[in-house]
Amino acid sequence: MAYPKPAPDQMLIEQSPAGLRRWCAARRRAGERIGLVPTMGALHEGHLALVTALHAAVDRVIVSIFVNPTQFAPGEDYARYPRSEDSDLEKLRALGVDLAYMPTPDVMYPTGFTTEIAVGGPLTQGLDATARPGHFTGVATVVAKLLLQAMPDVAAFGEKDYQQLQIIRRMAADLDLPVEILPVKTVRDNQGLALSSRNAYLTPAERDLARQLNKILASAAAELQSGASGREACARAEAKLLAIGFTGVDYVALADPDSLAPLESLTAKGRILAAARIGKTRLIDNLAVEASR
Ligand code: AMP
Repeated sequence: MAYPKPAPDQMLIEQSPAGLRRWCAARRRAGERIGLVPTMGALHEGHLALVTALHAAVDRVIVSIFVNPTQFAPGEDYARYPRSEDSDLEKLRALGVDLAYMPTPDVMYPTGFTTEIAVGGPLTQGLDATARPGHFTGVATVVAKLLLQAMPDVAAFGEKDYQQLQIIRRMAADLDLPVEILPVKTVRDNQGLALSSRNAYLTPAERDLARQLNKILASAAAELQSGASGREACARAEAKLLAIGFTGVDYVALADPDSLAPLESLTAKGRILAAARIGKTRLIDNLAVEASR
């Protein structure tokens, strides 16, 4: 069924879980399917691709904007994380989003809040789970709350945050959450740099450097397809990143695309994942790689 997009001045802004719940219940009673895009704002074309993907799948689209304090460790960039609410809302209006959900930390984590969702297993035994202890517990907990508040039929997540996507799929399956998780391919600039809110931290020279990350991962993928071991190809990629000016590499790794368990070599499908730093800015990226037949 085709539902008209709201006029740009009709996008609702909701700040309370109760208000969100009321609106969603009314939409469901009207027989409409609801989609949710959880974001931390500072919206770019990557976020907007999730909205577009959902428009094709559901009748009503909600975008949440919430910089979630519990997924940042002390010393990470929570306080300086880019915030641009007015331009975010303009972008969402222009795309015909039905409701922007913007809860405050007090509402999401009232005094006395103590519950956490911790996904276990190989998905949280390496990569960003090791580099950012506690990060995915913060992510899983806030995403579970958002899913329970909105009860969407479909929720969209980007492959840009590949480990996060797999952890959320696991959590939704394990908790029998009645939601379809829709993965969306990484949106890149014309030189392959994965769009990210954190790219706003980069100077023009740093941005040029950042654009090498996807290229170096692509060359590691080619080496793997030519028979290099995961260890060799990833070590070479790491050395290249450091040689061209990245100031630190948290990891370059070859992993099983579903469980994210480390792979020694490429025998079928794999995923190359990396996290590297340019000064204080931390960039992540990942690529699918498949053994050539
Ligand atoms: P964030 O605001 O960074 O928490 O991201 C919100 C959602 O947008 C997550 O599901 C991300 O994976 C997704 N996302 C962020 N950047 C991109 C991108 N370049 N391409 C596709 N999805 C993205």
